[in-house]
Amino acid sequence: MSTMGDGTRAVRAGLPEPEQYEPTLPGPVFAAHFHLSGEPVGPYTYGRETNPTWTHLERAIGELEAPGEQVETTVFASGMAAISAVLLSQARTGDAVVLPDDGYQALPLVREQLEAYGVEVRTAPTGGDAQLALLDGAKLLWIETPSNPGLDVCDIRRLVEAAHAKGVLVAVDNTLATPIGQRPLELGADFSVASDTKGMTGHGDILLGHVSCLDPELGAGVRRWRKVVGAIPGPMEAWLAHRSLATLQLRIDRQCTTALALAEALSKRADVAGLRYPGLPGDPSYPTAVRQMRRFGSVVSFVLADKDTAERFLGGLRLVDDATSFGGVRSTAERRARWGGDAVPEGFVRFSVGAEDPEDLLADVERALDAAAAR
Ligand SMILES: *Cc1c(COP(=O)(O)O)cnc(C)c1O
Repeated sequence: MSTMGDGTRAVRAGLPEPEQYEPTLPGPVFAAHFHLSGEPVGPYTYGRETNPTWTHLERAIGELEAPGEQVETTVFASGMAAISAVLLSQARTGDAVVLPDDGYQALPLVREQLEAYGVEVRTAPTGGDAQLALLDGAKLLWIETPSNPGLDVCDIRRLVEAAHAKGVLVAVDNTLATPIGQRPLELGADFSVASDTKGMTGHGDILLGHVSCLDPELGAGVRRWRKVVGAIPGPMEAWLAHRSLATLQLRIDRQCTTALALAEALSKRADVAGLRYPGLPGDPSYPTAVRQMRRFGSVVSFVLADKDTAERFLGGLRLVDDATSFGGVRSTAERRARWGGDAVPEGFVRFSVGAEDPEDLLADVERALDAAAAR
């Protein structure tokens, strides 16, 4: 499958060998324990450690993260569970870790936790590969590219080379791109981590996360951590996620194409400032993004005049839900400053492009912008 296209791999990812009278994708297995006599070994023992539905999903994600490679994937109850699994299982008292200061809004909470355990946390912005300057003596470098919601991009290969030369492990939060947009393990990262709540599952109805690694020892550490904290996904969620992966390429291709069209349309408007989309030639992220990304994501961000204009715009949209999160088939947008966690202006809008017909979506946005400006 490793030589096939993304769509082919997505529809077949993680499926078991065909067996007469068995379904293509076996249904969710609900089990707290499994029949187990004698020595407690074997693939399925207790439901906090293993579950056949996870096995299929983990295989599927692995095939997307590192086609043709032996890869260890562990699924979690949420993206935050996956992120914490890497950081909290790797960092020890006295270690230093490098985090982005413009990353996901819950990262500062993780930072507090790390510091409470006696871990030194250093931060720098994503843009301009600024984290490069903080690597000396560090244990782990955490990258989030494109950053969220600012959409800055850093050069993964360059950061990995510098980090590995200093014995520093590298983890990439790949939530925004998904593995069909960017493959961190291929770019040299030790951990590819994601919230699969977003584009990976794409329907805005489940929370899930995963960590993939090529090094079996690192993978085992992550898996051990899941057993310790018990941050396991339910079998139903895992099965729904696997089902959703079949349409990953269809969804993401459509969403990325429309996102570029939206960014182009917005770039022509005088009432839109601070427009960012990594796939827009001319965007500061573009030169690095084209070298490491295969698709540029479904998120476009921009700044309207002020809080009220942004709220009028969001209220005027008919096809776009005012909601947080991103990557889903139904477009969403939100005024990001309402959360207080990101360093963004009051009129900053994070727009997640869905799978609607592009012409309908663009017309809705143009109309809502006109109406918001007319007041
Ligand atoms: C949403 C998100 C997370 C957290 O994921 P949950 O599934 O909500 O726990 C982490 N990183 C990024 C970049 C995200 O967008």
